[in-house]
Amino acid sequence: MNTEHRIVILGAGYTGMLAAVRLARRTRRLPVHITLINPSARFTERLRMHQIAAGQELADHRIPEILAGTGVEFVQGWATSVDPEARLVTVDDDRVLPYDELVYALGSTTDTDTVPGVTEHAWTLNDPRAAHRFAGRLAAVAEQSGSVAVCGGGLTGIEAATEIAEQHPGVRVTLISPGEPGAMMGERARAYLHRALDRLGITRSTGHAVTKVLPDAVELADGTLVAADLTLWTAGVRVAPLAARAGIETDERGLIVVDRTLKSVSHPTVRAIGDAAAVRQPWGTIHGTCQSGMPTAAHTADAIAKELRGKKVRPFRFGYVHQPVSLGRRDAVIQFTKADDTPGRFHLTGRTAVLYKEIVSSSPPKVFRISKKMTVSVQFSRGGRATRTRD
Ligand SMILES: Cc1cc2nc3c(=O)[nH]c(=O)nc-3n(C[C@H](O)[C@H](O)[C@H](O)COP(=O)(O)OP(=O)(O)OC[C@H]3O[C@@H](n4cnc5c(N)ncnc54)[C@H](O)[C@@H]3O)c2cc1C
Repeated sequence: MNTEHRIVILGAGYTGMLAAVRLARRTRRLPVHITLINPSARFTERLRMHQIAAGQELADHRIPEILAGTGVEFVQGWATSVDPEARLVTVDDDRVLPYDELVYALGSTTDTDTVPGVTEHAWTLNDPRAAHRFAGRLAAVAEQSGSVAVCGGGLTGIEAATEIAEQHPGVRVTLISPGEPGAMMGERARAYLHRALDRLGITRSTGHAVTKVLPDAVELADGTLVAADLTLWTAGVRVAPLAARAGIETDERGLIVVDRTLKSVSHPTVRAIGDAAAVRQPWGTIHGTCQSGMPTAAHTADAIAKELRGKKVRPFRFGYVHQPVSLGRRDAVIQFTKADDTPGRFHLTGRTAVLYKEIVSSSPPKVFRISKKMTVSVQFSRGGRATRTRD
């Protein structure tokens, strides 16, 4: 390789950051220039966004500090378009960045478009500033012993509802979900979860979807109104439209369709990772989590480095290990799973589960320091096989 190989990474969330630091490490003796683009210089710990919403302060992790010494160039801004034929990315300050390879790691956000009233009257965990503002409003609601509706009975909704109820015991919290909260867990873990929801005084409203969010209530499909001084919306996800607009092949949700090595099937100079990629495995399609996203980032960094050295790249393989759910700061439940994320036989609860959850949600600089050197993923073939690689 004689000329410098230009790699642009879009998005510095969990997967974009990991891809950047690991790729820098893997290519440190090669003529490579890596650029990482993200709107904020602060790393957003999405895994802990519900803690901000409940009023807790998190550590401030600066992206340039995490990148120090790696040689990765950080560009602060929003990518506004990608031209995969000319291999150009445009940033909102009109900068145009050429690339030889693009790593697309723009993640996902909560969908606020589908249900009327969500954009106007509900809060989300999409952005730390909005989560901080929510926390301010929540404190005022708590002073008046008011009410909060948390819409969405998935892991994010459960974590948010329990965090709010623990932090503000006077607030009446209702968790609203058409299905049973925690339905993805096994029977015993689910029973533990419901005991924790009862202990924290969280009311459940199940069986009906939300049809509208009003300024002071949530309307359900059967016409019931659930009174709420504040509504937090955690149901459904959407992805940035950049890939689809650029003519890169996407699935019906807008996720980039990738091959077995995580390259775009329509544009092989584009690789997609994390929540923005539609990654198929023998057992089904991966759904967006950090647990699955981090291995896609590690695989992609390794794949780029290998290809630059003329080596063969193995297909990406992944199996889920766990569903870790915090239930406030003092309780948690971990459901261990089969590779396809269906519940396995074992689960953890209480203080051991809290400790486990904290370990898997470790501080980002620490995670990136460890994972740039070692494959943190546990990749499963049928029957389970842990794989570790060192550089
Ligand atoms: C409250 C909460 C709790 C969660 N808990 C867990 C958990 O316990 N375990 C788990 O495995 N997963 C959990 N998840 C899911 C996990 O956070 C996501 O799967 C993970 O963040 C995906 O990583 P990513 O890098 O693909 O995207 P993200 O982390 O969302 O990063 C995307 C980055 O791209 C940037 N970006 C977006 N658009 C542009 C643009 N146009 N130009 C430049 N940059 C852009 C964003 O600002 C962001 O920095 C949780 C999510 C939430 C909301």
